[in-house]
Amino acid sequence: MSTSIQMPADAASEMIDPFGRHVSYLRVSVTDRCDFRCVYCMSENMTFLPKKDILTLEELDRLCTVFVEKGVKKLRLTGGEPLVRRNIMSLFENLSRHLKSGALEELTLTTNGSQLEKYASQMVDHGVRRINVSLDTIDAKKFKDITRWGDLDKVMGGIRAAQAAGLAIKINMVALKNFNEDEIEPMMKWCHGEGMDLTLIETMPLGEIEEDRTDQYLPLSVVRANLLDKYSLEDIPYKTGGPARYVEVRETGGRLGFITPMTHNFCESCNRVRLTCTGTLYMCLGQDDAADLRDPLRASEGNELVSAAIDEAIGRKPKGHDFIIDRRTKSPAVTRHMSVTGG
Ligand code: SAM
Ligand code: SF4
Repeated sequence: MSTSIQMPADAASEMIDPFGRHVSYLRVSVTDRCDFRCVYCMSENMTFLPKKDILTLEELDRLCTVFVEKGVKKLRLTGGEPLVRRNIMSLFENLSRHLKSGALEELTLTTNGSQLEKYASQMVDHGVRRINVSLDTIDAKKFKDITRWGDLDKVMGGIRAAQAAGLAIKINMVALKNFNEDEIEPMMKWCHGEGMDLTLIETMPLGEIEEDRTDQYLPLSVVRANLLDKYSLEDIPYKTGGPARYVEVRETGGRLGFITPMTHNFCESCNRVRLTCTGTLYMCLGQDDAADLRDPLRASEGNELVSAAIDEAIGRKPKGHDFIIDRRTKSPAVTRHMSVTGG
């Protein structure tokens, strides 16, 4: 329990888990809905949460504010697709007060890019400086295949709008065997040519999908070894607060990140917790244990109950996850999809 940890008085409200890790990064899935159906993320016929279970934007703001008061310095809105939630700019606008006060260091977003044309400049007005855009291929036909419902032109238009608005962009690409292996190098050259970082991600066994994940899983250790045949990759200490490890690619002068939940577990330095749009707090992406914050939030106008529920939850943050993708392991590590917990 976190209560057993001796802390200096000014750090009394900080969140420190049983393994001594400071929790300073909150990812919030503001909706489980999405305008795409990426094959590794969702099944085509998803059942979404009933609207009545979903926190209002005011409630999300209140919860985020409690986390900021408890030491969260970085807040990432994600989903589902965060920009399809109605009035989402009002949440950005309200949360930006914590940037102005200095309590929060970064307010950011992970998006599929489909709505960026509409929202990029408003987000800049609300203090957003960097965003992650998920893009697994720049081949229009393959893009349609992987997202099922997405339109590459719209996403490219969104990326251009975000660049024009002055947002720094990191492209997140899930590396998938027999799908985009041969696009990693062209994608890297394109991103670096455009002044964007690229991060590669290993697919994780989260939620039931139609495909067999063994057919999709591509270890990034293999990708890295292949890149080393042609490129010089220099490990650099660059950090964005997330789990990526970065190299600088000498030939392009750009940064390449690797997120390796499968081949290299990064849990020892985990500083994150994840909140769903129903107010459920997951202390680990790869574990089922969770804490309900909606009831304590709604039970009182003050924040004491919810603050106590958060402390109790942080006190049982697990040491880490253990993902397996192989022919013998048919069921996912956890039943919920990535779109519920937020990437
Ligand atoms: N809709 C937004 C987007 O696509 O960026 C935000 C939510 S999405 C769940 C966040 C990230 O999770 C995306 O980069 C997506 O590629 C990644 N993702 C989804 N399912 C995944 C899985 N099973 N394994 C690894 N990454 C996954
Ligand atoms: Fe939607 Fe993002 Fe999941 Fe794709 S990865 S289905 S864009 S939530």
